[in-house]
Amino acid sequence: MTHNIAVIGAGVMGLASAVRILENIPRVTVTVMADKFSPNTTSDGAAGLWEPYAPGNTPEHLQQRWGDATFHHLEALLKTEESSEAGVTTVPSFHISNQPIQEPHYSKTVYNYRQVSTNEISKIFPQAKHGIFFITILCECRMYLPWLLKRFKKQGGRAIKRHISDLGELAGQYDVIVNCAGLHARSLVNDESVHPIRGQVIRVKAPWIRHFVDDYTSGCYIIPCANNVVLGGTLQKGSWNTQPDAEDKKRIFEDCCSVYPSLKHAEVDYDWVGLRPGRSSVRLEKEITQVSGREMKIVHNYGHGGSGITFHWGCAQDTTAFVAELLGEEVNFQEQPASKL
Ligand SMILES: Cc1cc2nc3c(=O)[nH]c(=O)nc-3n(C[C@H](O)[C@H](O)[C@H](O)COP(=O)(O)OP(=O)(O)OC[C@H]3O[C@@H](n4cnc5c(N)ncnc54)[C@H](O)[C@@H]3O)c2cc1C
Repeated sequence: MTHNIAVIGAGVMGLASAVRILENIPRVTVTVMADKFSPNTTSDGAAGLWEPYAPGNTPEHLQQRWGDATFHHLEALLKTEESSEAGVTTVPSFHISNQPIQEPHYSKTVYNYRQVSTNEISKIFPQAKHGIFFITILCECRMYLPWLLKRFKKQGGRAIKRHISDLGELAGQYDVIVNCAGLHARSLVNDESVHPIRGQVIRVKAPWIRHFVDDYTSGCYIIPCANNVVLGGTLQKGSWNTQPDAEDKKRIFEDCCSVYPSLKHAEVDYDWVGLRPGRSSVRLEKEITQVSGREMKIVHNYGHGGSGITFHWGCAQDTTAFVAELLGEEVNFQEQPASKL
């Protein structure tokens, strides 16, 4: 007997969950439904840096578990010839401040973590007294999502553009529904604890910038991506404004220029605003409920704040385990060898 699975959402959570379900549970057909696909999802606009950030009160052990699983997946991809198409690469990173910086909980996951002496940090960033350095991984969703979708379709997955106003529309048609609607889970499943955390960035052409810098003192950050450099940002809880704001842009630009004065000469590529799916903590759980008089089995995977790319592969694994449990199937997590991707 074949199991019919629907995944709502084609951001990083939806596509990663769809791929992992298809590859790890026997006898399934998987359909992704979304009203937006790449390059129009929130995931597409994120820089894609692996670093837990603004994940609400999600317990540290879960952040560690989902983050580590994702890091190791991206690390494996780095070693394949697929990594450039998938938009995955390493990025050296400085965090700087005029206050001492505590060792982050993920210091053992990233490469080459170290405290940087005041003497050394002030030679590179004269305004800073304290710093840490490590090498992390960047996963650029404008490349990664098309790559994931291709991997999904190659193995028989179906993807359709469709808005779902009410889960009742799918009642009786699927054995399990996976909810990866991001911020819009708020209306889809009436979860008012989901809220926007507005992020505005400027993408500039500055190929001479090779390091990620996060300035804790001013709150600005600079992330070198494949085709441009991200200058950020804002973290405005509760704001639904998706238009770039001139005041925010001015502040971001000035703060980033105080870190790297050469950015004053960078050509602006484009402005972008995205709404992070904020929640008191990530919702990753299974639910059996009645919808339109029928039993519906649902796995929820949403509310990842500023850490969706950082957690996606680990969350997709737990989502897959819940789907298998609801189907009464065994799940066998074996990464696909590079030659089969
Ligand atoms: C400025 C900014 C920078 C960021 N940088 C990083 C970073 O460097 N690293 C990191 O880890 N994270 C970062 N994030 C956070 C990250 O972007 C999010 O956590 C992540 O994209 C959430 O992914 P998602 O798949 O849950 O949601 P989304 O990408 O929003 O996808 C949701 C999907 O659900 C679909 N959908 C929703 N409702 C419905 C419906 N009713 N019917 C049909 N389809 C529906 C949408 O069309 C879409 O396909 C950043 C965010 C912002 C705003």
